[in-house]
Amino acid sequence: MTRPPTLVWFRRDLRLEDNAALDAASGGGSPIIPVYIHSPAEEKPWEPGAASCWWLHHSLERLDASLRKRHSRLVIRKGGSLRELTRLIEETGASAVYWNRLYEPALAARDKQLEEQLRRRGIEVRTFPGHLLWEPSLILNKQERPFQVFTPFWKHCSAIGDPPEPLPPPRLRLPERWPDGEALESLGLLPRIDWAGGLREAWTPGEDGGRERLDAFARETVRDYGETRNFPGTEGTSRLSPHLHFGEITPRQVWHAVRPGGGKASGRGEAASAWSWLRQIAWREFSHHLLHHFPHTPEEPLRENFRDFPWRRNSSRLKAWQQGRTGYPVVDAGMRELWATGWMHNRVRMIVASFLVKHLLIPWQDGARWFWDTLVDADLANNTMGWQWTAGCGADAAPFFRVFNPITQGEKFDPDGDYVRRWVPEIRLLPTTHLFKPWEAPGHVLSEADVHPGKNYPLPAVDHNEARTAALLAFEEIKGRPSSR
Ligand SMILES: Cc1cc2nc3c(=O)[nH]c(=O)nc-3n(C[C@H](O)[C@H](O)[C@H](O)COP(=O)(O)OP(=O)(O)OC[C@H]3O[C@@H](n4cnc5c(N)ncnc54)[C@H](O)[C@@H]3O)c2cc1C
Repeated sequence: MTRPPTLVWFRRDLRLEDNAALDAASGGGSPIIPVYIHSPAEEKPWEPGAASCWWLHHSLERLDASLRKRHSRLVIRKGGSLRELTRLIEETGASAVYWNRLYEPALAARDKQLEEQLRRRGIEVRTFPGHLLWEPSLILNKQERPFQVFTPFWKHCSAIGDPPEPLPPPRLRLPERWPDGEALESLGLLPRIDWAGGLREAWTPGEDGGRERLDAFARETVRDYGETRNFPGTEGTSRLSPHLHFGEITPRQVWHAVRPGGGKASGRGEAASAWSWLRQIAWREFSHHLLHHFPHTPEEPLRENFRDFPWRRNSSRLKAWQQGRTGYPVVDAGMRELWATGWMHNRVRMIVASFLVKHLLIPWQDGARWFWDTLVDADLANNTMGWQWTAGCGADAAPFFRVFNPITQGEKFDPDGDYVRRWVPEIRLLPTTHLFKPWEAPGHVLSEADVHPGKNYPLPAVDHNEARTAALLAFEEIKGRPSSR
């Protein structure tokens, strides 16, 4: 007699390799039915934004293609997760549901409920780690409290030792009958008006695309990461963030691909570079740790005194920032890169975020929302931490009084101006000495470069020194108040 099938519920683990839920189901010897349920309403208020939806469509397509190469397939459903899982159980006679865990507050709460309801119906439910290296609930400091400072967090976690080796792709036993599924197109993930040309050019969503990027990074780029990671004009970082977010590759795979030793990064400088990259992977862990322990932080500042910060909402300034028309070339370059490719270099994310929050005094939540809709790697944990860090209201954050100067940041991290020239072509002919502050260039330099401030490139939205003073004054209003209850 054939055994009842096991449903493997894919969520943000869109891969076959190093997939603990799939591996365990395959080890159990039952036929496997891979399932994806589209239920954005359950992720509210953080259902995937437009760029993430684009990525998700292609990632699901790739996952289905990989399964089909193994004579399997991805059964797609839409609607409530419990309803669809229950229907699938009734239709297929499945006796078990396996999935890999997620840590966003809304999803973790939903999964907990689902687990209880399915168990009550006699269904075997097994859930697995894999999205992170270290389970957030198990990592606590000596006082049994969550970490709020990165360095001791990293010290604590690195003492745990290397994570286990990644799992190989499993052998899939096929069911006798396949349940019906929806066509991927019916999920409506692709934009109605095609604005995604730049995304298509920049990315290859899916497990194979992630693996290729990781292999190339581990082979060629990581050795110089320590030196090149801060320069947005060079390809000095891995660009693995969307692949990690969608679970097309795992932190375990990247750890073992890059960790010094075992024949990898041999020289001292190379090892230091590899460790400085793995430290970024640990920042990803830290952000999930914070989100797990402080689930209110996507909406509210961790430091409570920031609730009373005198923000100045201003829709036309917000729009100028979103469209890359602030008049500060490095800020505009970043915002245009984001719009065109769905990604932005980390250094530039810090610069543009700081500009929105400290120069324009617009709430960090408005910036986080824009990133959420436009980033292909939009990730609730990383995005929340990134914005709160920049605004000075999060854990281990940059102090508010440290206001990035968008002119000197450009000069320092884009020294030849390649990045700004690529994304702000209307000022590309300016000599580098004037590139980051075109409004100060002498008239003849501007006309030779065909730059007309206020006409074909905006004048600065605010004066840097005045904005800095206003930011520090605003900060004075909340400075002395307690930052936690
Ligand atoms: C305001 C702001 C918003 C951000 N929003 C997001 C977001 O929505 N999604 C996202 O993945 N990252 C976010 N980041 C973090 C960081 O900018 C990106 O992870 C990084 O730029 C991705 O490029 P990469 O893969 O080439 O990074 P690499 O430098 O190659 O780093 C490797 C991986 O480490 C992780 N990582 C790197 N830096 C950080 C960091 N500072 N915090 C947390 N994890 C990190 C990412 O998973 C990244 O893919 C944000 C940062 C800021 C300042």
